[in-house]
Order: sequence, then C-alpha cells, then structure tokens
Amino acid sequence: MKLASRLKNVKPSSTLAVTAKVLELKRQGREVIGFAAGEPDFDTWPHVCEAAHAAIRNAQFRYTAVGGTPELKDAIVTKLARDNDLKFTPGEVIATCGGKHALFNVLQAILDPGDEVVIPGPYWVSYADMVVLAEGTPRIAMAAESRGFKLRALELDAAIGPKTKLVIVNSPSNPTGATYNEAEIAELARVLMKHPQVWVLVDDVYEFIRYDGKRPRHLLALEPGLRDRIVVVNSVSKTYAMTGWRIGYAAGPGPLIQAVSMLQGQQTSNPSTIAQAAAVAALTGSQDALGPMVAEFHRRRNLVCEGINAIDGLSVVRPDGAFYVFVNARGAFAKVGAKDGDDFAFKMLESASVGTVGGNDFGSPDHFRISYATSMEQLERGLDAIARWLKK
Ligand code: PLP
Repeated sequence: MKLASRLKNVKPSSTLAVTAKVLELKRQGREVIGFAAGEPDFDTWPHVCEAAHAAIRNAQFRYTAVGGTPELKDAIVTKLARDNDLKFTPGEVIATCGGKHALFNVLQAILDPGDEVVIPGPYWVSYADMVVLAEGTPRIAMAAESRGFKLRALELDAAIGPKTKLVIVNSPSNPTGATYNEAEIAELARVLMKHPQVWVLVDDVYEFIRYDGKRPRHLLALEPGLRDRIVVVNSVSKTYAMTGWRIGYAAGPGPLIQAVSMLQGQQTSNPSTIAQAAAVAALTGSQDALGPMVAEFHRRRNLVCEGINAIDGLSVVRPDGAFYVFVNARGAFAKVGAKDGDDFAFKMLESASVGTVGGNDFGSPDHFRISYATSMEQLERGLDAIARWLKK
C-alpha cells in the first residue's frame, strides 16, 4: 500500500510501543513489571470527577466553542496568573485535546518547510516527530549528563543558527527529569533575548512535579520581553492525574492562538465537553491532593536512584523533577550482549520481565528510561529483578 510520503520520516512513539508490548506479554500470562508508563498511577481527584458527573447530569452534551468553554478559558487564565504570574486574556488561550495536541498545532502554525527547531537533548520523542510532521528540521542540542542533562546558556546560543525558527524548553523534562533552577532559566532567557527572530515554546506539563522545594519564576515572568514570541503549553494530564481526559492548553500571542484555533476547527473541533468541565474543577478547585502525590513521587525517586546506583554497570544522575530517571547502562551492555540502550531495554523485558524504554529515540543510545509512576512495591520488585538479571 502506498501511504503519504510525509509519514516516511516519522516513527511511532516508542513509549507507547513498549506499553503495548508489556500489555501483550501480560495477556500471554507473563508477570511483567511496567516501568514505561508516562502517566501518574494516581486516580483523578474526587471533586474533579464530580464536576464531570455534574456536566453529564446537566446535559452538557453539545459541541462547545472550538477553543473551549468560556469557563475553561477563564480557568486557564486564572491558573496562569495564580501559578505562573503570567497575564493572558481569554483570547490568548486555547483548550486542546491534551498537551500533545497543543504542541502539534502550535508547531503546524509556526513552522515553514526547512525551519529549524532547537530541541535540548535528551528529548521527549514526540517533539522531533512533530517537528518533522510540520516539515521542520529538529536540531538537537545535547546537554551533558554530568550537568544533570541541563543545557548551558552558551550551548543554547551555539545551537541557534540563521534557520532557527523556534526553541523548545521543557523543565522538568521527559525523559531525564532535568529541572532548571531560576538562575538557569534566567540565563536561557538572556540568550533567547539575543535572538529576536526565534519563537520559544515552553512545555510546562511537569511544572509541579519537582522535589527541590523551589518554584522558580516562569521564563516569561523573568523576561516579559519575550511576550510576543513565546507560547506556553501545559495540560491537566500530569499535575492532576488526568491523562485519559485529554485536556491541554496553549497560551500565547492572540494571532498565533487564533491560527491554532483555526487549525483545530478543521480537525478535532472542541475537546470533550465533559472533560472540559472536569478541567475547570481541576484548575480552580482545591489543590490539596497535589502535595501528597508529589511527596510520594519524591520517595520513589529516592528509592529508584539509590537502587539503580547500587547495581554494577548502571548509574543515574538524581533528577529534581518529573517521574522519570534516565539510566546510563553503558557499563552493563557487554554483560548482556546489548549493542545499545534499546537493545538493553528489550533484553531486560525479555529476560527480567521489566519494561522500560530504551534511550535511542530520546537521543541517547547509552541510556534507558525508568518511569517510577508505579507503587513502591513494584519498584522494589523491579529493581531487584534488574539486579538479579545483571548478576547472572
Ligand atoms: N510534554 C511532555 C514532555 C510529555 O512527556 C507529555 C506526555 O507524556 C506531554 C507533553 C503531553 O501530555 P498530554 O498530551 O497528556 O497532555
């Protein structure tokens, strides 16, 4: 079958592929420990679920405006002011079908064929493929592991060239958990101010999942001069354990948001009406359940880092955010005859029944990614299984 040539350079999401493989092995009766999921293992909060129930009871069964209900737009505006000290109007925000959808459409709206996008690496797999689908060219700026995978200002500066149209900033990061502090963000902002032709896309989906006890000011709050060329993307998926509800959003200059809205109008139209009502409750209701969830992730982060660093051949730089660790496995490749991180992860799934994601598609074939969005008990069992496998 001849499919569209635009699909030639796009890979399926490797994270979803591993999750599917784990499910398949489980269906065959294998007991598999899954460390691949990119989503909190917590339930959506009761008051958020109740808002969805209320929307159904109130027969909110129709389409809404393409970019979301006035209530959700107001909630997004309120959230950005409350949490990030950012001022946007309802006309400058759009609700989307998850953060992924917002990122995809923003890239479609900004990029022309051949435009380069600077992506700090190791990077979330979907960024590069979304850029390619928008006919742009990903330009990966690799950050050093010794610096906790955080890009230095001068490295960002060196990566920006004449063809650069956009820079992506993601902190805390998937897959490394790299979490920039305020001084580091300010440094990046200074570089971005030197390049007025470049758009900035800030992906804040993990903003609250951090363990350094600090909430740095937002890049845009630190450098308001970026206002007319910055887009902030976020979603309710990770902060509120709402991955399945599919609500994300983007905030940026009005003309860009109108363009994104136009695209969305020819595509999905509005995100689910019921899920929008739930997202309003998540963004504006009590935030009390967030602290305990983050505290639990913190405990798990410590357990996983200690466990991995105790295994011969594996090492990890302890990250300050998200719910991932990016494990360097180079020292263990020879032991199991693995040629790279993907091969290592595959062999680990086959032999130790632990599902992780190889690092190749994240831009680093020395690594694999563990998600610790699973119980302490599963983590202990999985770490034990990895240690036993590598000891054999
Ligand atoms: N950005 C990053 C870095 C992610 O890891 C993810 C999900 O894994 C997303 C955005 C999108 O999440 P969602 O589409 O569920 O909002």
